Amino acid sequence: MFFRTAADKRPFHLGTYPLEALPRDEAPDDSRASGPRPTPAPISTPNGPLAQSALTKTARHYRGLFAEFAQGEVAPVRAPVPDDLGARVIDIKGYGYFMDASQVGVCRMPEAAWLSRTESENSDTASAGPGELERAGPAAQGFAIVLLVAHGRVPEPDNLARGWIAPAVEEIADMRAAEIAVCVAGHIRQMGFAARAHFNGECEADLERLAVLAGLAVRDGETLRNPFIEGGFALAAITTEYELSVDAPLARKTARAKGLRYWRGINGAMSGRERNRRAKRATHLGPFPMETVRRVDRPTTLILDAEVPRVPRRAGFFDRALRGDLGEKSTRERNRFAFKQPHAAAMMAPMRAMVPIQGGAHDADADTAAYADPGANARAIKSLGYHMGVDFVGICEVPRYAWYSHGPDGEPIEPYHTYAVVMLIDQGYDTMEGASGDDWISGAQSMRAYLRGGEIAGIMADTVRQLGFPARSQTNVDSDVLHIPLLLWAGLGEMSRIGELVLNPFIGPRMKSVVLTTDMPLEVDKPIDFGLQYFCNNCQKCARECPCDAISLGDKVMFNGYEIWKPDVERCARYRLTNTKGSACGRCMKTCPLNKVVTMDGPLVERAASWLGLRAFWLKPLMVPIAVKLDDVLGHGKRVPEKKWWLDLEVIDGVCVTPKGINTRDLDLTRNTDPAKQKIATYPASMMPVPNDNRPQPVDRKTALAATALLETPDEAKARHARGEAPPAHYTPTPPAAGGPKGPVAAPTPYQGLAGSGPPESGKAAQS
Ligand code: SF4
Ligand code: SF4
Repeated sequence: MFFRTAADKRPFHLGTYPLEALPRDEAPDDSRASGPRPTPAPISTPNGPLAQSALTKTARHYRGLFAEFAQGEVAPVRAPVPDDLGARVIDIKGYGYFMDASQVGVCRMPEAAWLSRTESENSDTASAGPGELERAGPAAQGFAIVLLVAHGRVPEPDNLARGWIAPAVEEIADMRAAEIAVCVAGHIRQMGFAARAHFNGECEADLERLAVLAGLAVRDGETLRNPFIEGGFALAAITTEYELSVDAPLARKTARAKGLRYWRGINGAMSGRERNRRAKRATHLGPFPMETVRRVDRPTTLILDAEVPRVPRRAGFFDRALRGDLGEKSTRERNRFAFKQPHAAAMMAPMRAMVPIQGGAHDADADTAAYADPGANARAIKSLGYHMGVDFVGICEVPRYAWYSHGPDGEPIEPYHTYAVVMLIDQGYDTMEGASGDDWISGAQSMRAYLRGGEIAGIMADTVRQLGFPARSQTNVDSDVLHIPLLLWAGLGEMSRIGELVLNPFIGPRMKSVVLTTDMPLEVDKPIDFGLQYFCNNCQKCARECPCDAISLGDKVMFNGYEIWKPDVERCARYRLTNTKGSACGRCMKTCPLNKVVTMDGPLVERAASWLGLRAFWLKPLMVPIAVKLDDVLGHGKRVPEKKWWLDLEVIDGVCVTPKGINTRDLDLTRNTDPAKQKIATYPASMMPVPNDNRPQPVDRKTALAATALLETPDEAKARHARGEAPPAHYTPTPPAAGGPKGPVAAPTPYQGLAGSGPPESGKAAQS
């Protein structure tokens, strides 16, 4: 309770609701599951008769987009999956929960649960995409994985977002269920087994019947009841030939199951108290009390605004690898990076499908009179973000230097929107606990947040455009803005020792960002100060635990106008791209002492430390050294076996195989941490590649190592600036080539900076 809770040992594949504690019906009766046949709703009809609000139309449109991937090609060779059906279920349910399903169950697929052809043909399956296979017949697809997604909260009556969200609650939950279902189905197909996703509008299965059989709901007359969720839910299913151990239906008496134990958290499941705490907060504030964090006028690390150069997308090391700057091996690995592991690979098709609709024309004829109050607009936008599933939202103006100078095609970017709505997605504490940080799930941790971020910001941008304001989502796959300066100005975190990564007071570094830029008038937030500079000055754990010594052990320097612990981003990028015992790396996030759970379900000591850390700054000299030491003594940062849910698989040439190795690191307390012995290469603006030349421009590491010595200290930069002297020559970016872009333009693909934080060496990286 003080240092550990039951939640720390709860197997991840059990989910956040204690379904396993409910009585089951040992003699399942399929007839009990049956009810009125559902009528499939049409999809892919953004302007159809069911359109009720801008948000409804957009959510339906995205669901139609995901429907393209309900079916697809099956890998030609089966993966080396375990014979133990229970072990298979841990991977499948774990993936469902990882993708944020509220509940997951598995049952056999009875013949009676297949909808007749006539019924399914009523649905708009125009979305069935190229490469669609004939579904394996009902007899072959003998198992069903059932997903349940709880409806989100409707904003308060005085919140503008209520009018957008209230008519769209079911549509949004359906869309999210669809997204999860196509990913789970894609994962199974990548493992070589036929699988087909079913959800509202793209459905050949009786979802309600399956929900009862899989133990997710009890039939009560014509309706379904979930024992824990009263506010409504969406259902989706995956039918498959992949054999799995199944759940038993719930006993009829479990229609209500919220006793005292539920409120305290049965078996380490999320407690009713914590759910209640979240439900009581105003919808625009989100789940974490950011309003309690001290606000300041400027970020806590120096930014010399007038001196920060604008930098091109081409300068990010994942982009450089793609274009051949890091050599043949890095290019080859970069091209398969996102497809290297089956859970991540399954997310790529839906992620890419959203890119073409990130921007678009706004409705210039819309009546915008209702949106004259920036404060009310900001509250509404935040409520929308939280309803869609982000964990934090902040708003700022977009400074000039946050716009990339050139896009991925080499063309110059002119700043085009005033405001940034900056959103964070928690990468998931439990999965991080089960992992080493650089093993086979590490890439999927990033991709999940990229997919979710792209979906949320895309839908929000489309909604704002329909309301009459220009807007565009800026995602990991395609962004015209650097995210890190926006995170700082929007008050979502402070710069950390990890380097090009902002750290949040409640979830630490364990997050990815996505941004919506717009001209809708919005009230902005202020930066925050929760004492992180002091903490990171007295802690080196991320640097000690980095597998390739890329994080600075020394002091902060000035890089392209920012005060920063400058990491060796080239080394980090190379390690993540060519990691042979894992699919990426986020070990610095995993081992950071501030990667914690500080909600009501977290350990008492961590909650108390977090509370004091935000309020009693005078205690930091006493508390921080103790916290850093205690974190090691308690073994935080080691892998927690109960939390591991995924099968370790690598995709080679489109087929899943057993990887040659798995990184199984825990802590290395003996590692030398002498800053004098560390060599960090830096590529300031003057060493960045020609921004509009996509042909290979090999890096010059020797010069980059020497360039580190040229960096000013923050005090030197401040003094120089005060004297009115010009910035150092290395702040001047490499100019574009005359005559326009050169070389091929690469297809959009997720990029990853340091710790998955975005294109580094770009002055400041995007934490996306
Ligand atoms: Fe800062 Fe320590 Fe976390 Fe690194 S591990 S980011 S030094 S708190
Ligand atoms: Fe090191 Fe990069 Fe891994 Fe972080 S993500 S631990 S900086 S290699």
